[in-house]
Amino acid sequence: MQTSNDLNEILNRIDRRSYPAYKDTRGAYRFPDYVLSVDHVQGDPFAAPSKVSVRVAGKRAAFPPELYRTACRRIALQDTLIRRFGRLAAGASFQAKGSGHSGLITLSRCGQEVLERTACTLDPDSGDVVLRLEVGFPANGRTINAWELKKILFDLLPQCVSKALLYESWNSRELEAAADLAEDQAYIRTMLPKLGLCAFVADGSILPRASGVSQLPMKGAVPFQSPEGLAVTLELPHRGKITGMGIKKGITLIVGGGYHGKSTLLKALELGVYDHIAGDGREYVITDSTAMKIRGEDGRSIHRTDISMFIQNLPNGKDTAHFTTEDASGSTSQAANVVESMEAGARLLLMDEDTSATNFMLRDALMQRVIHRDMEPITPFLDRVRALYDQFGLSTILVAGSSGAYFHVADTIIQMDRYVPRDITQFAKGEAAAFPLEGQPPRVAEEPRYDRRPKPIPELGGGRVKRKTLGRDGVSLNRETIDLRYVEQLADGEQSAALGECVCYAARHLLDGRRTLRQVVEELDRLLEQQGVAALCEGGPGVPFLARPRKQEIFACLNRFRGLEILG
Ligand code: ADP
Ligand code: MG
Repeated sequence: MQTSNDLNEILNRIDRRSYPAYKDTRGAYRFPDYVLSVDHVQGDPFAAPSKVSVRVAGKRAAFPPELYRTACRRIALQDTLIRRFGRLAAGASFQAKGSGHSGLITLSRCGQEVLERTACTLDPDSGDVVLRLEVGFPANGRTINAWELKKILFDLLPQCVSKALLYESWNSRELEAAADLAEDQAYIRTMLPKLGLCAFVADGSILPRASGVSQLPMKGAVPFQSPEGLAVTLELPHRGKITGMGIKKGITLIVGGGYHGKSTLLKALELGVYDHIAGDGREYVITDSTAMKIRGEDGRSIHRTDISMFIQNLPNGKDTAHFTTEDASGSTSQAANVVESMEAGARLLLMDEDTSATNFMLRDALMQRVIHRDMEPITPFLDRVRALYDQFGLSTILVAGSSGAYFHVADTIIQMDRYVPRDITQFAKGEAAAFPLEGQPPRVAEEPRYDRRPKPIPELGGGRVKRKTLGRDGVSLNRETIDLRYVEQLADGEQSAALGECVCYAARHLLDGRRTLRQVVEELDRLLEQQGVAALCEGGPGVPFLARPRKQEIFACLNRFRGLEILG
């Protein structure tokens, strides 16, 4: 293998030559503590930055196996390394000068969630640590400025590596704390179903965020405090006893006056499918890992989804057992979102009245009297929510501010009162008895069919697919944009990027006209689980920054991809 001296010589040789000569730096070079690999070199200073990775051998990095003996501990460790490396790289005072992206160093920017990312991977067998970053190779105009690149590769990088990727530079307590926290969070998540719960919110949690544009915890917020009747105490492996509100399986209503903290609680539950870093305030807000946020999403495409449970006898005679549209209405989109979540294996739905299609949620008595059932294609969610749980084991947590109709079907009713939850189940049920639900009983719900088989997509199966990520809001493949704005539990743009890769991978290997959508997603999820997110790129040079999405979001992405065709 070449050494750092070889790289130094290459850089001396190509200095001041025209930009493409940078391609000569491609390759791997041995440095004292690690191997530096130049995986991809940008074509010009304005192109996407070059991709560089660092591999520290397990012996040198020397993180104790105790820190990564389970997947959740390893992911937390990797996350902690990325954060420190990122801070060091960003905080380095020097700034390379030049044209385009000269000297720009990019690393994954981790938010409040702890996600598995390609930015840093630790091999549990060898203990080798790989860290990936992007560097804008510096130039003046289009002339190579190798001197500036040397500063990055020979000064900055070795410092960052030694301070972030070697165990000897760490306070061991800090790493242990991160791994232990992750294990405690995972423990709660695995315990939920066993305790008959679908979510847990620890006392003392801080749910609101600093602002609409900051995910940091709000300062001076009212800490969460469970109502006595709903309090549950768990014994965590590291932290020990913890008490909080347990939300039981079944139908839970969150009610309360406007601005009393209902949506804030629901938002925290939505993101409770992920682990959170220490200090976030939502470390111990844990939701069933399959939970899906459901909302109205008019305009989305739907590919032969069986929404007949909610919608039948459309005036245009459309088949709702294989409902297809390029432009769904509020109610049909929300119906599809529910059924597709079931297809994706969700055990819990999360809904907020504010973002739901009103006619999907309910029809009041007067409306039922004026518009006869025969004229109404929609069986509202109110008429289905009980069966979803009783027949299919699908729980619902619903935020309702304006309609009391759901009091009748709810198992638990929580009132948010100045940010403090109260268990008002008995009281509300008593009041509801005075307002019985009118109207005919709903049709029996039949289990939807989950046998959708997608056609091959040859356009995406080949080598060259133009990919573009629109932050967490979407991803485009050959100019076909997949809109993910309303897939609300996506936490990070790198997850969107990974979803784009999932679609391409599926097109290359899985979409054969025989596999069902369910099987395709299962196989993608297994690949991610067993080989990591980087496996989506199949060892191509310069793995992009990706973060692992849940199976549910892979489903959601494929469902919203307008290029998908289902065999009929
Ligand atoms: P709702 O959905 O009931 O109308 P929101 O959840 O949107 O209310 O909360 C209203 C406001 O109160 C938001 O600005 C939110 O940040 C703030 N808030 C929510 N929970 C708390 C809390 N525990 N302490 C302080 N402020 C909070
Ligand atoms: Mg609200």
